[in-house]
Amino acid sequence: MAPETTVSDEVRARSHARAPRRPPPLDAAAAGRALRILRRESRNWNAPVLTLMAAEKHDPFLTLIGCILSLRTKDETTAVAAPRLFERARTPHAMLELTAEEIERLIFPVGFYRTKARVILGICRDLLERFGGRVPDDLDALITLKGVGRKTANLVITESFRKPGICVDTHVHRISNRWGLARTKTPDHTEQALRAVLPRRHWLEINPLLVALGQTICHPTSPRCTQCPVAQICPRIGVTRSR
Ligand code: SF4
Repeated sequence: MAPETTVSDEVRARSHARAPRRPPPLDAAAAGRALRILRRESRNWNAPVLTLMAAEKHDPFLTLIGCILSLRTKDETTAVAAPRLFERARTPHAMLELTAEEIERLIFPVGFYRTKARVILGICRDLLERFGGRVPDDLDALITLKGVGRKTANLVITESFRKPGICVDTHVHRISNRWGLARTKTPDHTEQALRAVLPRRHWLEINPLLVALGQTICHPTSPRCTQCPVAQICPRIGVTRSR
């Protein structure tokens, strides 16, 4: 005899039927599809990262200093402050001609602008003393510079030297977890997870594409899922409120 269906079974079945079905977590192939879509769609977005990176990414020194400015700072603020500083100084030598107070004035209002002015001068001194004034193209060497973490070092080696690396900032960390590519608490752990799952051919592009998506659509709170070009394949893990 078939087991009797209870009221609570029926209620559960009905609520399952009502709930929108979400796709499974992305695997490497699905991530490749999502990145392909973003590559096409992001050309039409007005994301601050694209403007900044297009102008500066071929110069490792400018990428390095731009990334320091961007830490704990809104992308829109960095996009204005960085060119203001680079108009005055585009090399470690030229930067050391400025005082900490002058740099503070040029980069204000980026977050921690006083500390960052001193960090920038320290990096410039270090580059001249230990690396002949050149930015090293090696992640392990870069993170020996005071104030340079894995995120900054990865950005420099990927954007400026086109070497393999994955730069994980807050946008990449958040979206990778929403996609189910990572199940992590920190950006450094997300970097390790992405290195394990993502084919190398996507390492360089994942940062600019997810940063652009994060700046325009996949916001930290209430992402605009109804306007998102990858909504069909995104499992939206952890997203409880969206537009
Ligand atoms: S906006 Fe929504 S659908 Fe698009 S990536 Fe973010 S969580 Fe996924």
